[in-house]
Amino acid sequence: MSERLPCQNSDCKASILPATALKTGGICMPCHQRKIALEKQAFIEQNRKDVDLYADVNDPVEILKIMHKPRKYNPLEHEIPYHKTAQEMYHQLTESERERLETYAITLMEEDNFDQAETILLSLACFSSARIERGLESFFRKGKYYPGILYKDADQDIRDKLIHQLEFDSENRNHLLLALAWIGDEEVVRQFETWRQHPPRWAPELNISPETYAHEAGWELDNDGGKRLLFYPESYHFKVRVAGRGGMDQASSAVAALRAGEHSCPWCGSKLTVLFDYNLQNPLIQFMKLPGQRLRIAACMHCNCYGTVFMNADLDGRYSWSDYNVVPDFLPENEDMEQISWHAMELSERLMGAYDNAYWMLEAPASKIGGHPTWIQDAEYPVCPCCSTTMKFIAQMDMEQAEDSEGIYYAFLCEACLKVAVNYQQT
Ligand SMILES: [Zn+2]
Ligand SMILES: [Zn+2]
Ligand SMILES: [Zn+2]
Repeated sequence: MSERLPCQNSDCKASILPATALKTGGICMPCHQRKIALEKQAFIEQNRKDVDLYADVNDPVEILKIMHKPRKYNPLEHEIPYHKTAQEMYHQLTESERERLETYAITLMEEDNFDQAETILLSLACFSSARIERGLESFFRKGKYYPGILYKDADQDIRDKLIHQLEFDSENRNHLLLALAWIGDEEVVRQFETWRQHPPRWAPELNISPETYAHEAGWELDNDGGKRLLFYPESYHFKVRVAGRGGMDQASSAVAALRAGEHSCPWCGSKLTVLFDYNLQNPLIQFMKLPGQRLRIAACMHCNCYGTVFMNADLDGRYSWSDYNVVPDFLPENEDMEQISWHAMELSERLMGAYDNAYWMLEAPASKIGGHPTWIQDAEYPVCPCCSTTMKFIAQMDMEQAEDSEGIYYAFLCEACLKVAVNYQQT
């Protein structure tokens, strides 16, 4: 039996075998491992180099190609980010630059590199509102039908092929229906109405009725079989106000965000938050066609994470908790009763595309009024508790932007009943 020796690290009380001491220079294994890790960390810090992949690259298309290229993690390199986001770059592309990127995406698909190609096509379709006909043609021919939003501007030829394929391709039926919902042209509306009247033989294989897929693309069938849009095509984004840069006066803004409300939540007792405070007289929001002075959308930031909450509203800025609210099955105690401090959000006056930040996976900041919602999960339009009509999406607040946390609060309105609803999604 060999005698054990004390670890030479004065802070350590461990004892070790002589054989270990020989190997490590007298310290125990955990101390030895810690020493190696510290040395490695010090080495990385001393030798890490800044890498600027964009140095001397001025062509926006080349810059975007670099941005979209997957990276191999190298601890000895620190990549200097480009000074604009991909979204900002896409906003500024010329038509010929968009075409070059589309061609590049097609080349990537020929090489079976679908992830990168998909991101480029999605960015073109959402950020630059470009029609991606050639890219979509390749995507379709490769048997890819998802994400459906890529199909929103598909031509009749692709539409008819999708409708045909739906009949026999049970494996892809879910994605084919989504793609059709996104096309949403007259023929698709007619087809969805036919399925509503006469459910197809494959309808029982789905979790929802075929025509309900339209919600994922922001519309539904009305009572007469027409198309009813569930959002406003006009859209304006909120930006985090940069400190010290004055910016617009909240009072003169069309919509102010995240103000303390005066009422308390009857479920948890904390103060309600006015997510959106609309100045209905402001010219910017005349697209909503709401007469009156003011519309306030209030929510309990805690309880609203566990289900839809309805409020009564009027067009003079008053709001009250709706009697229709039902306590969710799962509602944990609100332990954080303090008023959260938000970043100051201000509404930009620049009109944006309806789908600009609608695809969540593109990771663009999502706080906005109007436009198509940025669903993190499946589409979830509340039904008005008074008239049973699907409520219209009017605004959303992205918590990553407003609070460096996560999730999105979505606001809806039934104009006829002046009922407001808020729900919440996260990953
Ligand atoms: Zn030790
Ligand atoms: Zn509450
Ligand atoms: Zn209603």
